[in-house]
Amino acid sequence: MLDLQRTDPDVHAILRREVERQNDGLELIASENFVSRAVMQAMGTPLTNKYAEGLPGKRYYGGCQFVDEVEDLARERAKALFRCEWVNVQPHSGASANAAVYLAFMQPGDTFLGLDLAHGGHLTHGSPVNFSGILYRAEHYGVEKDGPLAGRIDMDRVRDKARAVRPKMISIGASAYTRDFDYAAFRSIADEVGAHLWMDMAHTAGLIAAGELNDPLPYCHVVTTTTHKTLRGPRAGMILLGTDYENPFGKTAPKSGRLKMMSELLDGAVFPGMQGGPLMHVIASKAVAFGEALQPAFHDYSRRVIDNAQVMAKAFLERGYDLVSGGTDNHLLLIDLRGKGLTGKDAESALGRAEITVNKNMVPFDTQSPFVTSGIRVGTPAMTTRGFGPDEFERVVALVDRVLSRPADDGIAESVRDEVRTLCDEFPLYDFVVA
Ligand SMILES: *Cc1c(COP(=O)(O)O)cnc(C)c1O
Repeated sequence: MLDLQRTDPDVHAILRREVERQNDGLELIASENFVSRAVMQAMGTPLTNKYAEGLPGKRYYGGCQFVDEVEDLARERAKALFRCEWVNVQPHSGASANAAVYLAFMQPGDTFLGLDLAHGGHLTHGSPVNFSGILYRAEHYGVEKDGPLAGRIDMDRVRDKARAVRPKMISIGASAYTRDFDYAAFRSIADEVGAHLWMDMAHTAGLIAAGELNDPLPYCHVVTTTTHKTLRGPRAGMILLGTDYENPFGKTAPKSGRLKMMSELLDGAVFPGMQGGPLMHVIASKAVAFGEALQPAFHDYSRRVIDNAQVMAKAFLERGYDLVSGGTDNHLLLIDLRGKGLTGKDAESALGRAEITVNKNMVPFDTQSPFVTSGIRVGTPAMTTRGFGPDEFERVVALVDRVLSRPADDGIAESVRDEVRTLCDEFPLYDFVVA
């Protein structure tokens, strides 16, 4: 926008270069997406000025009548989207939403069981450098190394582990897991050991909303998510209550009483437990994004995200790449590069020179450090938003393969970069710098 260009040309110039980078490159980072102009516009509004601690109708500040309306709209749309009865749309991020869940259900020192970070889990599921691993006792399950379930979670092992460690909470969800989850099996394990069951659907929320993956809401006590990955909203988080919140609060209390108990615990954990004032401009933007996700076009988009991931998986396998779990059920692939004699770090930087953005990622049972890794993670949500279909994703795999076949060859990087630009020009993204 002209204003910023005039008042702060330094920042404006940086913003312009970043928007150009997004326009001109292949964005294959599985956790990223491109939001609509409407979602961005809501974020860039004077709602950022408003303090609104508390909840709609129960604020600690005056002048909240309009932000109350927008938060109510966001909540109603989120409930419709995930077919549930309660949500809190205030968490600033996925990590804040997760922190609120720990605060609500765990005491420091309590044990929980989650997916190992090195096997696709997230930092907030018990990494020793994260609050979740510092304040609580983290136990982990992982994926299988070999056999028919290689790269997948074996539920018998999860049950054995849960019996052995008696966790107070069990978490499901991942940042780099290519298969769907068996929520009914997790629930039966949680019930057996008396644990809360929590699904962190940060990566797959959009696909779940669209009905393209198994629905965790009927099985989990609580579900958290980011709103900016497959859900394609602003950078933020959200907490939802599962639709069966019976256990472990006892089956005798009436359902309405249990809903009240769980929701008050979680609301209190977000504020005043974890956060101060909510970001009302971001909440307005969430309302816009949820409105978009309720449209039939979003179902179609989510289907294409998965179809395109299948296309990529097939094309990589045909070119001799190893995929963890042999393929994918969702929007991402985890490519094990050990067979190609490459590290994730080298692959990431070689592809970066060709303006193909991926992230290096540990593969299960990796022998490299997290800074080097043996794999890369690639996903389809962003480029599918841009309009790429099966033909384009096949071309993408061919380009990636060309770079990775000769990672040190600058000539190849340059010619691939030209092709990337041509491909991107066919699918225009943003024609402005700041909305
Ligand atoms: C991305 C992610 C988060 C964290 O989200 P932030 O908004 O970056 O804090 C949490 N859990 C999982 C599984 C994720 O993939």
